[in-house]
Parts: sequence; structure tokens; C-alpha cells
Amino acid sequence: MQLTGKVAIITGAGQGIGKSIALKLASYGADIAAVDVNLERAQAVANEAKAMGRRAMALKADVVSAKETEEMAEKVFKEFEALHILVNNAGITRDGLILRMKEEDWDAVLNVNLKGAFNCTKACLKYMTKQRWGRIVNIASVVGVLGNAGQANYAASKAGLIGLTKSVAREFASRNVTCNAVAPGYIETAMTESLDDKVKQEIITKVPLGRLGGPNDVAMGVLFLSSNASSYITGQVLSIDGGMAM
Ligand code: NAD
Repeated sequence: MQLTGKVAIITGAGQGIGKSIALKLASYGADIAAVDVNLERAQAVANEAKAMGRRAMALKADVVSAKETEEMAEKVFKEFEALHILVNNAGITRDGLILRMKEEDWDAVLNVNLKGAFNCTKACLKYMTKQRWGRIVNIASVVGVLGNAGQANYAASKAGLIGLTKSVAREFASRNVTCNAVAPGYIETAMTESLDDKVKQEIITKVPLGRLGGPNDVAMGVLFLSSNASSYITGQVLSIDGGMAM
């Protein structure tokens, strides 16, 4: 699963799962671009990768903006003269029951989680197809597979991401670009920090492996799908959820 000589963009790399993925890919040899709306945090991640001896850059970009994501891909290609791996990880939640969900909460989640991945994918495919080697990994969710009361917007965005994954896989397989998704269960990050202990215990009862996941559990799956080790796998959704969805 060595990634020496490979160049990776990770969106939402400033913290949580994205940070863990960025540093995992760097530790296996990839040069990385840590992209986030929070430049300071992305810079700290890029600095950690540099300390491992990798080339690394931090970029401020909002994945919702087609213009900003085009500039992102262009800057990375200019700096590293290649672009092999894209991890669409940036994501948000705006939870609420449907009857109380505001239109802006629906739009915000669909925009970041789904349109954001479309924008970044489109911007990066241009370079990947010319190279005839590319790996796109989308961070979906168990909620996109099973649905979840109180998360209609989030579940729809993640289910949409799975449809996008399969379509990109079919369109670009002939150019040796694979596109897969991972569907994490409940992972301990800032996103799940606000859940109270009672809710966490309830979730754990639904996890056959009996615990919440950690960012490293997700990063290991993404590493595999970003590497040559997964060269005959495309259009798949890898559940990393302790067995919740099976
Ligand atoms: P997080 O909130 O800790 O981190 C998300 C990062 O994305 C932040 O650094 C944030 O600044 C960045 N971001 C947000 N909007 C952005 C935008 N418009 N453009 C660029 N960057 C943006 O979240 P996390 O828990 O690390 O989740 C990462 C991904 O994993 C998300 O897609 C999330 O839906 C998914 N996921 C998380 C869990 C979980 O339990 N934590 C489970 C399944 C899937």
C-alpha cells in the first residue's frame, strides 16, 4: 500500500477523520494537499506531513464553490506536477426532524456533502485522466445506507454520494481511475462529541463489535482504496462501522 510519488488532495483535512486520512496517506509516502475552510488547521496538518519528510501544502477552499475547487486542483497540479488521489471528506450535519427542518439546513448539508464532492471530483478528474491513474475515495456514512430519523438531509447527501461514486466509477474506469466510497459508522470526532453518553451507549448496543470507531479505522480503509492494492476494485462501498450495516 506504499504511496511514494503519489499526490493526494484531502478535503476537510483540518481535523477529525480528514486529518487522520491526510497523515495516514503521508505516512505511507504520499505528498499531500490539506484542504479546509479553516486554513490554520489545514496548515498544522501540512506541517506534520512535512515533518515526516513529505511535500505538503495547505489550501483554503470551500468545496461548495466550483471556482475555488478548480483553483484548488490547479494549484496542487502546478506545485506537485501530478494529482493522483482525491479524498472527498469535507462534511457537515444540520440535524432535525423533517417537519422542523429548515430549507437552509437541507441546502447547506446537500451543498457541502454532495455538491462539494461533485465539484472536487470534476476539478480533479481532468488531471487524473491525463495521467491514466487516479483514485477517488468518497466519505459516505452508515446513515446513507440505513437512513436515520433526524438526519434526512445528511442521509440523503450520503446516499447521493454513493450514487455519485458508482457513476464516476463507470464513467472513468476505462481511464484507470477508480472511485469508491467508505461508509463509516459512529466515529469519535468533533462531529459526534456533542452526543450525550446515554445516546452513545444506545448506539454501541447496535454495533456488533461493541464500540465506537476511531478516525484511524476509517483512514486505514481509505489508504487501501487509494493504493495499488485496490486496483481491481471500483464503484464499491466499504462499510467501516463495526458491523452495524450487514
Ligand atoms: P469534523 O466536523 O470533525 O471535520 C470536518 C472538516 O471539514 C472540518 O475541518 C471542517 O472545517 C471541514 N469543512 C466543513 N465544511 C467545509 C467546506 N465547505 N469546505 C471545506 N472544508 C469544510 O467531521 P468528521 O467527523 O471528521 O467527519 C469527516 C467526514 O466523515 C464527513 O464527511 C462526515 O460526514 C463523515 N462521517 C463522519 C462520521 C462520524 O461519526 N464522525 C461518521 C460517518 C461519516
